[in-house]
Amino acid sequence: EVRVRFAPSPTGTPHVGLIRTALFNWGWARHTGGKMIFRVEDTDAKRDSEESYQQLLDAMDWMGIDWDEGVEVGGPHEPYRQSQRGEIYQDVIAKLKDGGFIYPSYTTAEETEARHKAAGRDVKLGYDGYDRHLTEEQIAGFEAEGRKPVWRLRMPDHDIAFNDIVRGPINFSAGSVADFVVVRADGSPLYTLVNPVDDALMGVTHVLRGEDLLSSTPRQVALYGALYAIGVAKYQPEFGHLPYVMGEGNKKLSKRDPQSSLFHHRENGFIREGLLNYLALLGWSLSADEDIFTPDEFVANFDIHNVLANPARFDEKKAIAINGTHIRKLAAEDFRDRLIPYLQDRKLVGAKLTDREYEILTQGAPLVQERVHLLGEAADMLAFLFTDTVEVEQGAMKGMPQNLVEVLTAAENVLADLETWDLASIEGALRTALIDELELKPRHAFGPVRTAVSGRRVSPPLFESLVILGREKSLERISQFKV
Ligand code: GLU
Repeated sequence: EVRVRFAPSPTGTPHVGLIRTALFNWGWARHTGGKMIFRVEDTDAKRDSEESYQQLLDAMDWMGIDWDEGVEVGGPHEPYRQSQRGEIYQDVIAKLKDGGFIYPSYTTAEETEARHKAAGRDVKLGYDGYDRHLTEEQIAGFEAEGRKPVWRLRMPDHDIAFNDIVRGPINFSAGSVADFVVVRADGSPLYTLVNPVDDALMGVTHVLRGEDLLSSTPRQVALYGALYAIGVAKYQPEFGHLPYVMGEGNKKLSKRDPQSSLFHHRENGFIREGLLNYLALLGWSLSADEDIFTPDEFVANFDIHNVLANPARFDEKKAIAINGTHIRKLAAEDFRDRLIPYLQDRKLVGAKLTDREYEILTQGAPLVQERVHLLGEAADMLAFLFTDTVEVEQGAMKGMPQNLVEVLTAAENVLADLETWDLASIEGALRTALIDELELKPRHAFGPVRTAVSGRRVSPPLFESLVILGREKSLERISQFKV
């Protein structure tokens, strides 16, 4: 059975690259009928925060990425927050000490550098393994000085090789990775220890994570050897390192870049289906000629073996276009209801919509569904239906005809005289008055009316908008626009 895990550290706000990692783990679990584990690696009290943890939950929930074991839901390997697993780690550390897999290391970085210098080696070489061979007397001496040791893993003296699912064969030659610290001087374990220990205890079969962690993998593979020997690990998981997500200028999409934030895209009006589709394309594709798919189609087709190693570029324009396609596929009522938070954010409606507001939204939403790529854009287009006064958007006055007042007066007059306020009557009256009688081009005829009622150059279809807005408001806005 496939068992994958998403193991974020709760720092900062969810990055699109991180959620792509969650998505690929989830996709592989769901595709194979395996299990998805959500473990939180909160071992750095200075950087971790409860707020970040809550944001991770929010992000997963919104994306529809669920998990079978882990935080919030529990499971057979509880607890799933590393900050609560201290005893488990101490037990493993004791066994590693007993087996001689880790050894106490007393020398400081300065002492190591001095040894490199004395031997004519590059001082940047890193730890040299000096404490591997300390005698009882030397140890007693360091202890008498009051030194507290860190504990290092004894790296094997052979190459470390593994076959990365995404990147193919990877080899680190013997001696290229120094004996590394797994336990701090205060006895607390480091990420380098707890991450593979938990993967082993939780029976993880595939470690799918960002390429930035590739350099730590040889250490983990070496540690797996020790964990296997002490009976903590039953097998070594497979590793798959997912490609970097790049931003502008071929640089890694940095945390400071707003596009890196999942919530930035949600606030702009991405729908879950659209963003999921786009994030899946960061390293994977359904086929050469189809880049639109639903979450279900993603799960049905996703194969971790088809993920490409080359860096993936985050292209917001393409993402937005894909989102538009998914918006058009939504059922009308679904689209309508998803707009509500965006109207609320803009203070166009309150926490609970009145019946009248709901009716306006029900009529207005279908007018924009085909025209927008983002829910935020739709809310902006519909805003004029929910306000008492319109604010004229910047640049909306460009291209207005010379005889603006004449056009508006003619429109006002025929609309005021209409017997019934419906689509056919409104359209007929305006066409007759402005196109036939004033002999205007449609743009000059309807542009002024559109901007008068909506404040915008681009709005939902004009005649439908007038129907929804009602006679009173429409006439009031046209008349006010003249002054
Ligand atoms: N907690 C690690 C991080 O967020 C992830 C480790 C892993 O996926 O193996 O960088």
